This record gives sequence, structure tokens and C-alpha cells, in this order.
Amino acid sequence: TPLLEARDLVKHYQIRKGVLGRPVGTVHAVDGISFAIPRGKTVGLVGESGSGKSTAARLVSRLIEPTSGEVRFDGQDVLAMRGKEVKALRRRMQMVFQDPFGSLNPRLTVGDIVGEPLEVHRVASGRARTDRVVEVLETVGLSGRDLHKFPHQFSGGQAQRIGIARALATNPDLIICDEAVSALDVSVQAQVLNLLKRLQRELGLSYLFIAHDLNVVRYMADELCVMYMGEIVERGDGDAVFADP
Ligand code: ADP
Ligand code: ADP
Repeated sequence: TPLLEARDLVKHYQIRKGVLGRPVGTVHAVDGISFAIPRGKTVGLVGESGSGKSTAARLVSRLIEPTSGEVRFDGQDVLAMRGKEVKALRRRMQMVFQDPFGSLNPRLTVGDIVGEPLEVHRVASGRARTDRVVEVLETVGLSGRDLHKFPHQFSGGQAQRIGIARALATNPDLIICDEAVSALDVSVQAQVLNLLKRLQRELGLSYLFIAHDLNVVRYMADELCVMYMGEIVERGDGDAVFADP
């Protein structure tokens, strides 16, 4: 069985006139998509802005509820999970976002940022937490000397490594990368992509890899799903998607 499976996922947003106003329309953000991520593999979602990629990511991680459809993680019914189970799911399914500086609390040290999921999920505290933080910092090419620094002391590429270290801290099975390199200079994009590839080889990670840049997704994904207006309109490995019909 695949690690993550989404079947016929649908998300329709009601658009209201004002926060509590009457509904004036429906946005079909995700309109019946299915995909499966085998263990240790990468499924890529690619598509223009507004095609439904982030909504798909929020659905499979239970950040939002679907209108209909099914999500299974490691055989478990994600949509049937209650609070404690959702929390356990998040420990195994972490996310890396687009803007490293926007998603790292500027007032916290790197040690506290990367250590936060360890506290939240009660994986480690005190000395054990620090040891684990140093370990994952080294895994992403940073060092224990960075523990007491703040995010603004790093470059964009380094800051995204901090975000990746935080995602790795709880030893997840799946990482959802939502435009994880899109905000970075082209010169450091390849370094971060290759870091993600190395982590996949070494740790057996699976990725749901989301980006609007077809070349980036093609480089990363074993299976590439092209989204357009909430639907997957084309899928296959990179060569199949690029081949002339
Ligand atoms: P992408 O990640 O591909 O840019 P999104 O999933 O963010 O696409 O958005 C898909 C569509 O759903 C867009 O038309 C967007 O405006 C709409 N949308 C996303 N979130 C909401 C929301 N909370 N309320 C209403 N519409 C939304
Ligand atoms: P992305 O494309 O990366 O998802 P967006 O800028 O489209 O980012 O969306 C940012 C936030 O605004 C998201 O939380 C999304 O759910 C929400 N959003 C997007 N479109 C709409 C919309 N039409 N109405 C209400 N909220 C929206």
C-alpha cells in the first residue's frame, strides 16, 4: 500500500459577501483529484497559481476539511482522525513552506525553532532535545554553532535549511514541500533540491512536492501531476508529460 493516498478529493469554497454575508458563489479549488505516494518516492503537483496545489496539500494534512473524498496515510483513514490522531499524523507528515523567513519565527533562536516540534510532540526535551536539534542541523549542512543565532542572520538558502531541519526533527515519513524553493535565488535552488534528494536517499523519505515551475518538479518527482483549475489534467513521469502527443 502507498504511504499516502488521496482519492477523488474535492474542495469547494463558498464565497460570501462579507465574512458573515450571504453566499455569492463557489470556488472549485480542488475538483476530484486522486494520487498515491509510494514509500520513499516523490509525487509532484505542478500548475499555475490558483490551480489548487496548496489546497490539495492542506487537505491531505487535515489543515482543512474536504467537501468529499478520501485520504489514507499508512493505511489509516485521515479524515476519520480525531484530535490526538491528527496530532500524531502531523508528527509523521511535516511541511516546508515557500518563504523561509516568513515561516520561521524571527524572535526565536534556531535551536528553539528546530526544537519546537520536539516539544509539541513530546519527543525530546532538555539535553536530548538539544542533541537532536544539533543532529538535524548537521544533517542539513548547518552546525551546532548556529543554535543561538536568529533567522535573519542567515541567507535565504540557509534559512530554508533551517525549515527543512525543523521538518526533519520528529523523523517524519512524508514531507510536503509547498513551493519550497520558489522564493530562493536560482543559484541556491539546486543546492536545496539536491539536499532534499539526499535526505530522501538516506532517510527513505517520501515527498509531496508542489511547485509552479515544471522543471523543478520534473527534477524531483517520480510521478508528476499537472493541475489546472482544480483537476489533474495530465500525469506520468517527466518524459511522458513532456512527450509530444
Ligand atoms: P495554488 O496553490 O495552485 O496557487 P490554491 O489551492 O491556493 O492554488 O487555490 C485554488 C483556488 O482556490 C484559487 O482560486 C484560490 O483563490 C481559491 N482559494 C484558496 N483558498 C481559499 C479560501 N480559503 N477561500 C476561498 N477560496 C480559496
Ligand atoms: P498559495 O497560492 O500559496 O496558496 P495564496 O496567496 O493563494 O497562496 O493564498 C494565501 C491564503 O489566502 C491561503 O490561506 C488561502 O487559503 C487564502 N485564499 C486564497 N484565495 C482566497 C480567496 N479567494 N478567498 C479567501 N481566501 C483565499
